[in-house]
Amino acid sequence: MPNQHVTRWVLLPLVFALGSCSRPQTVDDARLRAADQEPGNWLMYGRTYDDHRFSPLNQINEQTVTKLGLAWSRELGTTRGLEATPVVEDGILYATGSWSVAYAMDAKTGELRWTYDPKVNRERAYFICCDVVNRGVALYRGKVYVGTLDGRLIALDQRTGSPVWTASVADSAQPYSITSAPRIAKGLVVIGNAGAEYGVRGYISAFDAETGKMAWRSYTVPGDPSHGFESKAMEAAAKTWTGEWWKTGGGGTPWEGIAYDPALDLLYFGTGNPTAWYRALRGRGDSLYTASIMAVHASNGELAWYFQTTPGDNWDYDATQPLMQADLNIGGRMRKVIMQANKNGFFYVLDRETGEFISGAPFVSGVTWATGLDPKSGRAIEAPGVAELKPVIVSPAPDGAHNWNSIAFSPATGLVYLAAKTGTSFLHAPDAKWKYNSDGNNVGLNGMYDGPLNAQLVKMPPGSGELLAWDPVQQKTAWSAKYPVVEGGGVLATGGNLVFQGRADGVFAAYRATDGKQLWSFDAGTGIMAAPATYLVNGVQYVSVLAGWGGAVGVYNNPGGGPIKPGFGRVVTFVVDGNATLKVPAYGHPVPPEPQLTMKASPQTIKEGAFLFNAHCAPCHGINAVAGPVPDLRYASKETLEGIEDIVLGGSRASAGMPSFRKILTAPQVHAIQAYIIARAQESARPQKR
Ligand code: CA
Repeated sequence: MPNQHVTRWVLLPLVFALGSCSRPQTVDDARLRAADQEPGNWLMYGRTYDDHRFSPLNQINEQTVTKLGLAWSRELGTTRGLEATPVVEDGILYATGSWSVAYAMDAKTGELRWTYDPKVNRERAYFICCDVVNRGVALYRGKVYVGTLDGRLIALDQRTGSPVWTASVADSAQPYSITSAPRIAKGLVVIGNAGAEYGVRGYISAFDAETGKMAWRSYTVPGDPSHGFESKAMEAAAKTWTGEWWKTGGGGTPWEGIAYDPALDLLYFGTGNPTAWYRALRGRGDSLYTASIMAVHASNGELAWYFQTTPGDNWDYDATQPLMQADLNIGGRMRKVIMQANKNGFFYVLDRETGEFISGAPFVSGVTWATGLDPKSGRAIEAPGVAELKPVIVSPAPDGAHNWNSIAFSPATGLVYLAAKTGTSFLHAPDAKWKYNSDGNNVGLNGMYDGPLNAQLVKMPPGSGELLAWDPVQQKTAWSAKYPVVEGGGVLATGGNLVFQGRADGVFAAYRATDGKQLWSFDAGTGIMAAPATYLVNGVQYVSVLAGWGGAVGVYNNPGGGPIKPGFGRVVTFVVDGNATLKVPAYGHPVPPEPQLTMKASPQTIKEGAFLFNAHCAPCHGINAVAGPVPDLRYASKETLEGIEDIVLGGSRASAGMPSFRKILTAPQVHAIQAYIIARAQESARPQKR
C-alpha cells in the first residue's frame, strides 16, 4: 500500500510537468487558435474564435444536471447591469462589472485575487445610453485587457491586476464610450466604441498588445469631404449620405459584435445606427456603413467587404449583434459562413470570405418594418410609410428581436441558440424641430409627442420572449422554449446536450439542446443578461454566470409590473452536488410610502413634468418614474426632492453617477419634473385613487 502512495506522489508532479511543458505559460496566438483543445479553460469572450460558445465538457449532462447546485456566489456590490462573460484560465476567472471594474477570482471558491477600478468619472453617465455596463476582458501574453466607459483601453498584469499600459481609444471631450470586450487578433487588441445615439463618428481600432501603440484605425462612416477621405471605402460611402452628415459625427459605432477568422486573417464587426435615427431628419440615402456587417483585413484595417442589414436604418436596428462563424453544408456545398440574428428580426447567413448573401429569414413573427429580403442580394424590402416625418408604430422595437446577448452554436445539433423577442413595438415620432446639439441626445425622437398613437401603443399586446433553437441551414425554427419575461440572456451550449440561459426574472435554466425541454433551474435573485461560461477546476466541471439586471431595457423597464427582478449583482457558480446557499440582500420598496414632500402644482405642470421626465430622466430612472437598477424617485427622500434643482442643474450628485442637465433643462422645467415625481409618488402610495 505505501508503494502505491509513493507512485502517486511521483506521478502527479510528472503529469503537471508534462502539462506545463506542452504549452506556453501564457495565452498566445497558438493557444487562442486552438482554444477548442482546452476544454478546461474559457480563453476568450466566445470561448473560440468562431464564437460558438460551445463547450465539449459533458460531466454536467442531461442526467447529472438535476443534481446541479450552487458552488459559490460573490456579490459585486452594484445594482447596475452586469453583461460580462467570464474568461477562465487555469482556475482563475476574469470578469468585469459596472463602471468598467475588472475582477480576478478563484474559479473554484470565488475568492478575490485582485480588483482593478479604472475610476471612470461618474458624470460620463450623461453620455451613456444603455447603463454603465461592460461585457468582459481579453487575455493575451500575461495581460488582461479591458475597455472603459470613458474610452480607454487598459492592459493589466494578469497576476496582479496592476496597469501595464493605457491607450486612449476615443477623445474624452466627445460622447464616446466603450462597453464591449476587447478581442485579440495576431498580436493586436481590437476595440470598437459606442455613442451613435449622441453623435460621434464610429471607428474600430487595433493596438499593439505589448506596447499599447495604435496599429490602425478604420472609420465606419465618412468624415467631412472638404478634409479629403481616408480611404476609397470612405469616398464610396460618402455618396450614400446627404446633407452635412459629418456635423453630427454620422454614427455607425461598432459597439459589440467583433469576430476574427485567423485562417482568412479577416476581422468582422457590426456597426450601429446613423445619427440621427430618422432618415427624414438626417437626409435620404443608405448611410453606409451604418447598420452593416463589415470585414476588414486584420493586418491593416482595410475594407474587404460589407453587407448592410438595414439600409438607411431608421429604427435603431444597428448590426452590432453577435457574429458567429461556422462551416456549413448548404445546398451540397461546404460554405465558410458568418451568421447574425439581427435586431431587425432577420437571421442572416453570409459567405465570410466574400460577404455574399447566402440566405436570410425572419426569426420572429410580426416584423413590420420590412416585407422581406431580396432573394438575390439580401437587401431588405422596406414596408411603405415606415420612415416618414410622421409618427409610426414599428416592430421590432429599437431593442430588437435579438440584441447583444451572446448566442451559441452546437456542432452536435447544428442549431444556433438565442434569446428571441416577439411582438415588441415602438412609437417612432421624429422631432421635426430636431437640430444637432452637442450637449444632448441626438436620436431625433420627439419625447413630447402627445398624439393618438400613444393610446394605440398602450392597447397593443405585450411582447414575449423565448429561447429559440434556429436551424441556420434551413433558416427555420427547430424548437423554442417560451419564458414568462420578454428579456432572455446570453446562451451557452455544451457537450452534455445542454443549453444554459438566464433571464430577466432571475431564473438560470438548463434546457435539453435537442428538444428544448427544461431540465433544471435556479433563482439567482436578480435578472440575468450575461452569458454563462463553463470550465474545469481539478478535473471538475463548473458553470459560472453574472447575474445583474440593467442594460438598455433594464433601466427603462417597469420592474413593478411583472416578474422582472432588479437587485444586487453577483457571480453565481454551479457544480454537480453543489450545496452552497444564496443569500439575497433585500432590495426595492415593496410598500410605497407617502411622498416625503408635498407641493401644489397645476395638472398642466404635472403633465409637462411627465413628458420632460420621460424624455430626459426615463432612460435611467425608468418610464413613468418606475425604476429598477437606478434609484426609483417615487421613494426619494425629502432632502432629495427639495434639493432637486441642485442635483439636476447643479450636479451635486455627479460623483454618484447623476450628471448635471444644466445644458438642456431650465429651472422651471426641473420644478415641473419635481411636481410630476411627487404626483407619481402619491399615486403609488394610494393606488386606489389613481
Ligand atoms: Ca443604436
